Amino acid sequence: MSDKIRFILDDKVCYANPGETIMDASRHNGVFIPSLCYVEGVKPAGSCRICNVKVNGRYMTACNTPVADGMVVENNIPEIEDLRKAIIEVLFVSGNHFCPSCEKSGNCELQALGYRFQMMVPRFPYEFPHKGVNAKSKLIYHDRNRCIMCKRCIRMVVKDEKNVFAFNARGGHHLHVELDVELANQLTQEEALHAMDICPVGAIIKKERGYYSPIGSRKYDFDPIGSELSK
Ligand code: SF4
Repeated sequence: MSDKIRFILDDKVCYANPGETIMDASRHNGVFIPSLCYVEGVKPAGSCRICNVKVNGRYMTACNTPVADGMVVENNIPEIEDLRKAIIEVLFVSGNHFCPSCEKSGNCELQALGYRFQMMVPRFPYEFPHKGVNAKSKLIYHDRNRCIMCKRCIRMVVKDEKNVFAFNARGGHHLHVELDVELANQLTQEEALHAMDICPVGAIIKKERGYYSPIGSRKYDFDPIGSELSK
């Protein structure tokens, strides 16, 4: 007897392995659920909330909710799509996301989702934050005004088993991601470039190589609606 779990996703009968999250199972069944903090194979953070779906009528984050037998998941419905669009708009207005002047433009997952959800003018007022930048390390420029707190760098940029990025001012409204300059100075060129690549926006920029992807060869030049996001 098969030990696969059977569930319904957007009216489609899908199958998952025991313990698999809705996010992983959806992708293995060919259904795309957008996210900005999810990376396959990395412990989910559930921080961006863009993967919100309705599970048996209740909102749940797909990246850290395991599939259960008989579960009914709604993903591609207007209510969820508008919720995701609203979150994307909040991220845009609460950060310094001026795409034309950002090195990550064309390779930015937030920008790609903006296009995917046809965001025009955000419904919320711009905050124009002053969260500061950290340009003290040799290879990395960290712009906290662009940080969307996805925790990817905290989970994935490690040097000698120590986190190069960490939360600071935890618990207060000044919570932000801080770069450990001493550790960052020990990163190789490749590791610094990897840190830039795993950041979904332009908050982590590798120094010494400005605009190294020419227009026309950036990731979302080939995938303008971001259908391959986070793969
Ligand atoms: S710096 Fe980039 S990767 Fe790190 S939390 Fe902020 S947005 Fe995410």
